[in-house]
This record gives sequence, C-alpha cells and structure tokens, in this order.
Amino acid sequence: MRKALYLAIGLIITFEGFACSAHYNNLLDLEKQFPDINIDYNSSHRGWSKYLSKSLHGTRKLALTFDDGPHPTNTPRLLNILKRYNVKATFFTMGALVKEYPAIAKRIVSEGHILAGHDWVHTNSNGESESVYSSGLKRTVLEIKDHNPNNEFYYRFPYGAYGNGRGGYHHLNAMKKVSQDLFGENCINFAFWDIDTSDWVSNMTSDNIVQTLMANLNGGVAYKFKKISNGYTKESYTIRRPLAGGVVLMHDIHKRTVDATEKFLEKIKGSNIEIVPLNEVREFEFGNAVCELLRVI
Ligand SMILES: [Zn+2]
Repeated sequence: MRKALYLAIGLIITFEGFACSAHYNNLLDLEKQFPDINIDYNSSHRGWSKYLSKSLHGTRKLALTFDDGPHPTNTPRLLNILKRYNVKATFFTMGALVKEYPAIAKRIVSEGHILAGHDWVHTNSNGESESVYSSGLKRTVLEIKDHNPNNEFYYRFPYGAYGNGRGGYHHLNAMKKVSQDLFGENCINFAFWDIDTSDWVSNMTSDNIVQTLMANLNGGVAYKFKKISNGYTKESYTIRRPLAGGVVLMHDIHKRTVDATEKFLEKIKGSNIEIVPLNEVREFEFGNAVCELLRVI
C-alpha cells in the first residue's frame, strides 16, 4: 500500500534544484519553516523547494530526518545506532503508528530525538477539504504531544504536498488556525528538506544512499529515483555544486536506510561533518513560543 502512496511523489518532486546550490550568509534571507502570523498564504506559496534550510548550506552540517515510522524493528535498530554515535535526529512519525507503537515513540523522546508529525495515515493533503486536513493535523498533534514534553512541534506534509488544496483554503493558513485552537499561539512548524536520498526506491542500496549523502557534501555521483512504466527505479547523476549542508530526508521504515545511516556515521567519524538537531537550525527556531496545549480536545 505504501508503494502505491509513493507513486504520487514523482508528480511533486523534481531534483534539478539540487544541482545548483547557493551559500547564504545573510540570515535575513532565511525562509522560516513556520507559518508567519502576518502572512495570508496563497497559491504563490507552494513547493518544497520554497523552504530550504539555507543557513546550513555550505556549513557541512546535516540535520537527519526520518519519515513514515515508527517501524517495529527498523526504528529501534536505528535508535541503537544513533545512540552509539551520539547523534540526535528528527522522526516525522504518523499519528496512527505512534498510537500503535507508543513504546518506540517514548524511546525516541527519552533518547533526546525530536518526535515530529507526518499526518495521521500519510494522506495527500492536497486532496483533502479544510475540515478533513485540519482534523487530521489536530489528531496527529495531540497523539504526538502526548509523548513529547518539549515545546517544539514539527510537521512534514506527506509527499511534501501542500498549497494546492481544493475548497479555497491554503494548508499553512489552516495550520495556523489549528495551532491557535490547540496552543493559543503559532506553534506548528512545518518542515521540508534540502537533500533527498530517494531511499524509498526498492532497488536503492545502502551504499547508494551513503554515496548520495557524500555527493551532497563533496560533489560526485549520487542517486535519485526515476519513473518507469511499472513504478520507480534508481538513476545515477552527478552533483557538481553540492549544497554541503542541509536537512536530509530519509525513511526509517526501510532496513537499507538504517544500514546506510550506520555506514554513513562510521564514515564521517572524526571528519568536519557535523550532525545537528533540527531545533538548532535557524529556520526551525521557535523563538519565545511556549506551546503548551490549552486543553484536551
Ligand atoms: Zn512520508
């Protein structure tokens, strides 16, 4: 079923943007990954590449993010590896799976990672009415907030899909309303990514994923997905101007991704490459928000 869900990804994502990078020193250029209370979002606010973590570009710092879990075996194994290398990551989990595997969600939080949301069951937000989208978001926030004592609430749209909804609403405006309702302030921080490993492609190997990560740091051959008549396959390409830092998109539901993470962390040990938590990235800072739930709904 998940495979079928991913068919939509190809419609949304293009990779050309990764080939050319810019190194931003001016922090005023940053696109906050946070719905601005003063902006009424409209159809010009679309696409994952609108919100890159430019503050990381060129810094050789990566924020690792893992989507679609928790997975009953792969996520605990990944947590063991992250602990061994003393690395903190962010998990964009599905509300329904957090409900199914509360002990893993609890472990993610207790070991210092960020437990974040990725919808209730991974539906494409662009196909939902405002009330369906908002209630799914609300349900996800409440399920995850139950485990997460920290202030931050990060949310990633399944497929990175938003801003093209039917029914005359924009997801970021709906997100602000949900946040006001739950927290009385602007507390839901949406998150995209800079570096896509295409780790969900079934013939991608853990070595391919490691190579893609290294190519995004140093340049060279990387791998991405390619649409073929009966699904997807991997395709190599060359990165000439690497971003050399950014938010990395991976999926902890796949064994190859967990293997790749272990190989990558071993490879960069003692190097100048640093893994940073998402909440230390400028674009994701919450500022002075308290973000305590007003009430249980
Ligand atoms: Zn996903």
